[in-house]
Amino acid sequence: MSDDSIPILGAGPAGLLAGIELARRGYQTVIYDPKRMVGRPQHCTGVVSPSFIDFTGLPGGLILSRFRGVVLEIAGEVFQASTSAPKAYAIDRVGYEEWLYRVYVDLGGKARMGTRAMPTGIHVDATGAATYIRDGVGEALPALQLIVRASSQLEDGHVFIWWDREVNPYFFSWIVPLSQDRFKVGTAGKAGLWRVLNRLMDRRLGRYEVLRRMYGFVVLGGPRDRFRSGDKVYIGDSAGQVKPSTGGGLMYHALAAKMLAERIGGAIEYSDLFYSMLGREITLQKILRKMFLLMSNEEARQVFTVLSKREVLNMALMYGDMDFHASILVKMVMDMDLMRILGRLGIRVFTELFRGL
Ligand SMILES: Cc1cc2nc3c(=O)[nH]c(=O)nc-3n(C[C@H](O)[C@H](O)[C@H](O)COP(=O)(O)OP(=O)(O)OC[C@H]3O[C@@H](n4cnc5c(N)ncnc54)[C@H](O)[C@@H]3O)c2cc1C
Repeated sequence: MSDDSIPILGAGPAGLLAGIELARRGYQTVIYDPKRMVGRPQHCTGVVSPSFIDFTGLPGGLILSRFRGVVLEIAGEVFQASTSAPKAYAIDRVGYEEWLYRVYVDLGGKARMGTRAMPTGIHVDATGAATYIRDGVGEALPALQLIVRASSQLEDGHVFIWWDREVNPYFFSWIVPLSQDRFKVGTAGKAGLWRVLNRLMDRRLGRYEVLRRMYGFVVLGGPRDRFRSGDKVYIGDSAGQVKPSTGGGLMYHALAAKMLAERIGGAIEYSDLFYSMLGREITLQKILRKMFLLMSNEEARQVFTVLSKREVLNMALMYGDMDFHASILVKMVMDMDLMRILGRLGIRVFTELFRGL
């Protein structure tokens, strides 16, 4: 480590993006990671928005599949929202990190893979969900994801989402097509994750073969209040920069990396930038999650029936951005008299809803 280089702990997407943005501004950086190779083992589904592709400049060859809709099974009732243009992509997650690594090295960044470091001065902490959990920042759930081969009957170009609180009261489950016969199937929760996924696959994929299993943690508790603490500057999962509604972090890390680099010459505290852009959206997502956790199956069915009848799901898909889905959903529902729709669900949901604001 040369004296003037900035150490970055962690060669996941957040650490690599931070390295790229700092290198672009002329800073010398060294990334350390005990892993020998970037990208592996991989636990992420890799579903991203069109804005993410634009923002990162991700090469088209790393896009595995395109989605123009979602099929939602909410407590036994099926709802569908579709549009004509792609609204989400599944990317090659290993390829994404390998590409980031090449960009970083081409910019002159240094990496010491297979090496642990204990920096004494200012450094970037991109060490992932384990640090978020160890520091007790907020909620994180164990996740199980499988890569499965199956000849399925799923709707073409659609992601499948399943919510049933009697099966898994903590999180939804998903099936994401990667190709004609390959799928990522996953869920998060406190127990019985295999049981949930077996049930989902039996019902939706018919005959299937599990090719790979992956374990990880989905960060759901929201970001740290401040991203600088002593000599550490947090980014990525260790900072909690993840959507509390879905657990997706890739876009928020990419945004955060630019903000961090912008502030590196000064106090290196960029939480004000982050919260001014994403604070409201994250608060709304926390509320959405809380509502889901509180709703009975019957209440969830009622909400989605109303949203579906009023075309809110289709409109949110058409005009919204999955990285800012809570803002658009709330705006649309507000426009159509939130009180009347949710009033039927009773005072319980409302009390909790406003407690989270
Ligand atoms: C099941 C699942 C599905 C997901 N699906 C999506 C999705 O579809 N879309 C989306 O946007 N997000 C998704 N996410 C979230 C996304 O994967 C994470 O937000 C993202 O990978 C976190 O990146 P990171 O760089 O912060 O952490 P990580 O990718 O965890 O990288 C942290 C790195 O730090 C290294 N490290 C640990 N300790 C040290 C240390 N002391 N010194 C140096 N290095 C260290 C680790 O080896 C690792 O390489 C999903 C997450 C899970 C669990």
